[in-house]
Amino acid sequence: MGIDVEKQTNLLDLDRQSMEAYFADMGEKPFRAAQVLKWIYQHGITDFSEMTTLSKALREKLSDIARIELPKIISEQISEDGTRKWLIQLDTNNSIETVFIPEKDRGTLCISSQVGCALDCSFCSTGKQGFNRNLSTGEIIGQLWIASQALGDYEHKNRTISNIVMMGMGEPMLNFDNVVSAMNLMKEDHAYGLSRRRVTLSTSGLVPAIDKLAETSDVSLAISLHATNDELRNKLVPINKSYPIAELMDACRRYAKIRAVDTITFEYVMLDGINDSEAEARMLVKLMNGIPAKINLIPFNPFPGTDYKCSSTGAIDKFRDVLIKGGIFTITRKTRGEDIDAACGQLVGKVMARAKKHQHQKMDNQA
Ligand code: SAH
Ligand code: SF4
Repeated sequence: MGIDVEKQTNLLDLDRQSMEAYFADMGEKPFRAAQVLKWIYQHGITDFSEMTTLSKALREKLSDIARIELPKIISEQISEDGTRKWLIQLDTNNSIETVFIPEKDRGTLCISSQVGCALDCSFCSTGKQGFNRNLSTGEIIGQLWIASQALGDYEHKNRTISNIVMMGMGEPMLNFDNVVSAMNLMKEDHAYGLSRRRVTLSTSGLVPAIDKLAETSDVSLAISLHATNDELRNKLVPINKSYPIAELMDACRRYAKIRAVDTITFEYVMLDGINDSEAEARMLVKLMNGIPAKINLIPFNPFPGTDYKCSSTGAIDKFRDVLIKGGIFTITRKTRGEDIDAACGQLVGKVMARAKKHQHQKMDNQA
């Protein structure tokens, strides 16, 4: 009899807690979970027969009822500045992109959480493609597995990938459970063992989900703010119509308090003549009141079909100086991987877009 792959559990979908429950259901000791996690994520082993700390009987049983199925790399591009971008196949219709950004003191992997995105921010290429589906936990953590292997980060000894940002394609809060499980694996000692400070979830500001995250996880939070008044933010980040700026700032204060985080990062894309005046910078300083904030100014990355332009370097510097004078730690993010379209908001993959989903409905279901 052949094995029915559909019925097999993909172990990449299970964080430690779920895997312990899985082994308990099989009548096995929960510590098997730690052993299997180590084989998969620290030794890069995906064949049960090589997991020699497990009994032969258990290895054979797992080969029947479980599988370790990773997404596949379709292509890799390497930028002049060392940035790497992988196009990753999920299924026949869908692919996503994952980006590795090496810097002097760190290596950051930018991971996707959805195929496309339903939120349709006006300056984002991913949003312009519409939404197709959520990634499974295995497809999210699989991006880290694949990148670690491709970079030769064997057993994470050299920590080539030191930081993870959920800033690839998609809105991670709209794929809440799978994203949280994958982030658990990033932090899990028996898997990637990254500190909570080095795992960052970026969101366009879904307030109920921020509160839910505060109850569920303790990762670093980044908020895509991009405007200082609701009228403009409604246009740039349409989800703002549901969760306006004042409510979003309150949610950030709650998150900082509950999770005792050192800082919340605010991302602010610099759009020429749209949101880059010094008056807006002063307003931004006021908005940060009572929040342990750090601001990342992101030069706008253009993509085909957009009318927006990036602010001039002079305007970005002036904006930054107002923030710094206002006592806010601010950096201007360097654009990386420009020659391979790997910068923020440029990731496309292949999205077989269905009708765009209504964000309110999605939100109600998820948070
Ligand atoms: N959906 C999440 C995470 C993915 S986008 C979010 O919106 O936060 C990651 C970051 O890239 C966000 O801050 C987003 O606003 C920014 N971004 C999107 N398009 C961009 C573009 N064309 N140029 C610069 N930054 C962009
Ligand atoms: Fe989605 Fe983020 Fe792009 Fe907005 S900026 S469309 S939330 S991926």
